[in-house]
Amino acid sequence: MSNKRVLSGMQPSGKLHLGNWLGALKNWVKLQHEYESFFFIADWHALSTNYEDTSRIRENVFEMAVDWVAAGLDPEKSVIFLQSGVLEHAELHVLLSMMTPVSWLERNPTYKDQQQQITGRDLATYGFLGYPVLQAADILIYRANCIPVGIDQLPHLELTREICRRFNTFYGDVFPEPQPLLAETAKVPGLDGRKMSKSYGNTINLSDTPEEIRQKVMTMVTDPQRIKRTDVGNPEVCGVYSFHKIFSSKDEQAEVAEGCRTAGIGCIDCKKRLLANLMAELTPIQEKRNELVAAPDKIRAILDDGAGRARKAAQETMQAVRESMKLYV
Ligand code: SF4
Repeated sequence: MSNKRVLSGMQPSGKLHLGNWLGALKNWVKLQHEYESFFFIADWHALSTNYEDTSRIRENVFEMAVDWVAAGLDPEKSVIFLQSGVLEHAELHVLLSMMTPVSWLERNPTYKDQQQQITGRDLATYGFLGYPVLQAADILIYRANCIPVGIDQLPHLELTREICRRFNTFYGDVFPEPQPLLAETAKVPGLDGRKMSKSYGNTINLSDTPEEIRQKVMTMVTDPQRIKRTDVGNPEVCGVYSFHKIFSSKDEQAEVAEGCRTAGIGCIDCKKRLLANLMAELTPIQEKRNELVAAPDKIRAILDDGAGRARKAAQETMQAVRESMKLYV
């Protein structure tokens, strides 16, 4: 086990789908055995784009915590907590915002992209522009060394590193520069072949019932050229086969691919085989999930305990920050 600290978070935007699980959570479950690990539910970040309607935020936080623990995040090994449960994030955010040039925030590529893409909402807000500063505070407050990120998130982490360097230049070396931890994660297509995303309505959720999952798998888009059972197909253009690559053994992948190319297997049978393998992985998670949903006090206790442990680390950092900035302590 490394003595380095890993930190990551997710916005509570609803029930987790297979894309979230395979793209991030499964990697976190592995990392918790290798690093001192902090994982937080970023409820303040959710407000940066959804500040008008907060009606589902508590429910979403609960669902996310349930999904995390059911998928294998162990509250004994990892510090699992809610961002708003550790007020020191806000204090550090204020201090970092004093020294972060606005131009750094305005050039953030997602700032303009999201303003254009997310329609029907006014995102010309201070909170949305300053989102990366809060993100920097989330990371630096734990003096995290490693941040699991996808390639597309590297520019965000670079901004945190710039803010970190700027702080350390002004006030002394308080924060280690967080390093990206690039993980090989599986890319999961949605039911329609596009990227799996809640906004496309093409997800399989960890919380879906076995019958819902069966129905979803059976409606998955296949090779569009394979219309009749006797047509040969190309597994490489088929979303079902992408799932086989994740959930089926190498032997079964080869069998299915060969069967597809020779019309030896029909799409319905191919999907049934996938379903069996998918459910073999999902069933233990779903059983644990059902137990946790029936015990909301347990989830509350996990988040409270995690916030207590996170707060202790955050308070130590803030003490060092205040001293280095010559603030009244
Ligand atoms: S046989 Fe399987 S891999 Fe081939 S097109 Fe049908 S569902 Fe896709």
